[in-house]
Amino acid sequence: MTRAVVFSEDLNGFKNAASLAYSIANEVYGVGYNDVKYTDKLYLIDRTEEDSIADFISSINANLYVFGNSKKDKIIAAQVAGKRKIGYIPDIISVEVSEGKKVIAERVAYSGLAISKLECELPCVVTVSKSFGEVKERNTQIERVNLKESKIKVIESKKATSSADLANAQIIVSVGRGLGSKDNVALAEELAKILGGAVGGSRPVVTELGWLPEDRQIGLSGIKVRPKLYIALGISGQPQHLVGIKDSKIIVAVNTDKNAPIVDNADYVIIGDAVEFLKTMIERLKAK
Ligand SMILES: Cc1cc2nc3c(=O)[nH]c(=O)nc-3n(C[C@H](O)[C@H](O)[C@H](O)COP(=O)(O)OP(=O)(O)OC[C@H]3O[C@@H](n4cnc5c(N)ncnc54)[C@H](O)[C@@H]3O)c2cc1C
Repeated sequence: MTRAVVFSEDLNGFKNAASLAYSIANEVYGVGYNDVKYTDKLYLIDRTEEDSIADFISSINANLYVFGNSKKDKIIAAQVAGKRKIGYIPDIISVEVSEGKKVIAERVAYSGLAISKLECELPCVVTVSKSFGEVKERNTQIERVNLKESKIKVIESKKATSSADLANAQIIVSVGRGLGSKDNVALAEELAKILGGAVGGSRPVVTELGWLPEDRQIGLSGIKVRPKLYIALGISGQPQHLVGIKDSKIIVAVNTDKNAPIVDNADYVIIGDAVEFLKTMIERLKAK
């Protein structure tokens, strides 16, 4: 393969993407905000908006476009694939080029339960989701580029109310559909307050039932948490939820179904009604 282009908004992601690119391409171009020297050539860009960056990267002729793994990297990767009308394989964990014509890549599927092997005609876009090793510094040729103005303007930004608290919380009281009603979420909030923790929830509680705001969803498409104590109330424990809580130190599950998947993934299990559990805990802790 002749040329690869790499981009990531963060340095480690950039180095990792470059490392992968060099394993299969003769020439690697980087696009970035900082003048780091890990590619043969670096386009030093002056704007951070996704559409401006995607426009520019799409204009570079390459066989492979390699991106890091941040949300922004993935947005730009998808835009490049769309603008160039080429294939896109996200989250790859291995890659090889077959007959100089196509990429064969593996990616984790079903929240870690399977690995899919995919092929894509070159040129192709990939994002990387594991370490591809170190990359050495090079004698990089640097070219400054003034990007086109973005079509999207930021009108206002404000701090998210709570997701930062959840990501760093040491104790999380988490609610699932099994809690039964929005009124019962108030009990979970009361328990979290007594314990000095935060409240989170499963996807249906946020997206379908609207019991909690969007920034409280835990799991694959929500926030990944790593508390010391995670109390899962009426949560079945599907893989998409478990992937967001696997770094918790202690998981306590309260569920009426002894066969719910969360039961096998918890350190302590209470088979019973989550609302009763909440009321009892609040009463006993208040009494103390
Ligand atoms: C692409 C994709 C991304 C996804 N991302 C996420 C994600 O980020 N986060 C996420 O959570 N899900 C996600 N999901 C959804 C996920 O697959 C499950 O559907 C979801 O986690 C189930 O939520 P739940 O456990 O609250 O509800 P349910 O699966 O309905 O489980 C309810 C549980 O409550 C128990 N229960 C019932 N009554 C009581 C009671 N009175 N007391 C105690 N227990 C009781 C039941 O036994 C059951 O185990 C995603 C799915 C897809 C396809």
